[in-house]
Amino acid sequence: MEVIKNLTDALFLRKQKHALEKELVRLEEQYCLTKEHPEYGSSDDENAQEVEVIQENLGLQRNLKNIIKDTKAAIKKIEKEKYGICDICRGPIEPGRLKAFPVASMCVTCANKKFRKR
Ligand SMILES: [Zn+2]
Repeated sequence: MEVIKNLTDALFLRKQKHALEKELVRLEEQYCLTKEHPEYGSSDDENAQEVEVIQENLGLQRNLKNIIKDTKAAIKKIEKEKYGICDICRGPIEPGRLKAFPVASMCVTCANKKFRKR
């Protein structure tokens, strides 16, 4: 198993940035797709179907917007050398968590706390 000795490890950061940038491109493409919606006919049935698709896309768009924002924030953090620091407790975020989830802005403990509050 690969061990990350130091969070400021330059190679690790470069990899994370690369992954985030790739992800950002993919997310923005997806976001553009949700803006388009297929044309349905004009019968009541088809209109209802169209409304459903538009609503679904709006929900998706909101989600994507948030993820895009988080991804951009993570890239900024790498550039400012603040990457891997928990937004809540200012402690280090677990390297394993960052690897699995590069946009993570909280450590496992804080993320769990926040999740439980909801
Ligand atoms: Zn924390």
